[in-house]
Amino acid sequence: MVDHGPRTGNKVALTFDADMTDAMRYQLRSGAVRSYANLRIVDLLERENVPATFFLTGKWVEQYPQVTRRLAANPRFELANHTYAHLAFTADCYGLPRLPQRQMTADVARTFDIVAPYGGRQTRYFRFPGLCHDRAALDALAPLGVTVVDGDVVSGDPFATSWRPIVRAVLDGVRPGSVVVLHVTEANAPMTDEALPHILAGLAERGLEPAPLSEVLGHP
Ligand SMILES: [Zn+2]
Repeated sequence: MVDHGPRTGNKVALTFDADMTDAMRYQLRSGAVRSYANLRIVDLLERENVPATFFLTGKWVEQYPQVTRRLAANPRFELANHTYAHLAFTADCYGLPRLPQRQMTADVARTFDIVAPYGGRQTRYFRFPGLCHDRAALDALAPLGVTVVDGDVVSGDPFATSWRPIVRAVLDGVRPGSVVVLHVTEANAPMTDEALPHILAGLAERGLEPAPLSEVLGHP
């Protein structure tokens, strides 16, 4: 389990979680919500040639196969695992419905199976929904050979109503080797794309350079 890479050098990882729950799918189907895929983030990262790592839920991939193809096709982007349906792996995890322990291993394995056919830079990185985990959850994932990645800079972008606190949280906390947790879930993180240019500018001012997670963690 890792929160960050070595504190040497100048690399930091921008990671974007792609949550998708049954409740979110219902919001989409009912028309209450337009999108949980913030393409302005992808546009900006591509335009500026910024490396990033995307933690994908299986359900998000099923909802957005074309966006997933686009992410996989970018040699600067890495793909990682954020469970199938963003269920909680512990009790009391931000009100998320709980995944029974006996289903944990299969849930994460299934997500790898859904993401793998897209190719690109596949990884064995995994992030728990809400970062909630305990010994039992970690034990359930042991057979899968995953590296659990929490992150040391939590941007707080879900449900933010202004980009400013997101930028402040990231730039106040970021250091060499940092893993920054952001979201690409548009309707549930509506200010992230507005925050991103300020984050990139602030990183550059500090001499910090975004890199794929594997490079920041020092895994070849
Ligand atoms: Zn999440």
